[in-house]
Amino acid sequence: MQETTIHNAGIAKRKTRWGSVAFFVTLTLVTLVGCPIYLYKEGLSLFLGVLTLSFIFPTGMAITAGYHRLYAHTTYKAHPVYHFLMLFFGAATFQQSALKWSSLHRTHHRYTDTDRDPYNIKKGFFHAHVGWILFWKNPVDYGNVKDLCKLSLLMHQHNHFQAWAILAGAVTPVVIGAMGGQALGALLFAVVARLFVVYQLTFFINSLAHTLGTANYDAKITAKDNFFAAVMTNGEGYHSYHHRFPMDYRNGVYWYQWDPTKWWIYTASKIGLVRDLVRIPTEKILKARLTHQPSA
Ligand SMILES: [Zn+2]
Ligand SMILES: [Zn+2]
Repeated sequence: MQETTIHNAGIAKRKTRWGSVAFFVTLTLVTLVGCPIYLYKEGLSLFLGVLTLSFIFPTGMAITAGYHRLYAHTTYKAHPVYHFLMLFFGAATFQQSALKWSSLHRTHHRYTDTDRDPYNIKKGFFHAHVGWILFWKNPVDYGNVKDLCKLSLLMHQHNHFQAWAILAGAVTPVVIGAMGGQALGALLFAVVARLFVVYQLTFFINSLAHTLGTANYDAKITAKDNFFAAVMTNGEGYHSYHHRFPMDYRNGVYWYQWDPTKWWIYTASKIGLVRDLVRIPTEKILKARLTHQPSA
């Protein structure tokens, strides 16, 4: 429980994290060089393609619907089976525990665009995208996630994160791949390339959605609404709305806005996996939009 000690919410210190640098460089090289060589020699079987997609979709959704909208912002409640799926596939993304991720994200919302914002866009696009992980040490204030500490399965994932991550993100896909006679292919595509893709898509929420688009709901901060970013991030690109109303389970608040995460959560509510979805009343949304002068 040492990790759950409450620290002061401080300012990040510059520190090159060589382990993370080596990890990301390896991941990038294997994805951009190793995977094409494998494809050239072996081709892509239907089995491997389906296996890889079967990990890209739920792991991406575990970040946006699970880590972000269920845990960091508690925009809805979930059945224990749903909690397990979000924590299992969330761990498979190798993006820290749901508790740590949520704590950092709540800090981002509280201190947006300041030195206390872990992925402060004012330090540049690269910093907000991935530089904050590679070259900075961010203090984590677990005092802002006391509500989540009551969830026993989430705490188990936090306290045994490496075991969860390796089992969910590496062992499971490679064992399934081995059963289909393609263990190496599974390692390259369902583990390495999949991690690379889901990392990049997640990182765009902090970089692209704070750079390109229109600040429809709050022109005082850098969060923007951007259809292109929404397509890249499972619907998280309506970021001006999200920063104005983070408690809403929708980011693309209008029915026609591209937000697969909200459609997933809505569908899960219809089959009884989740409930109590929070929706901001339409009048309040319109008022917020009208009282803020949009700016690019
Ligand atoms: Zn943001
Ligand atoms: Zn958020």
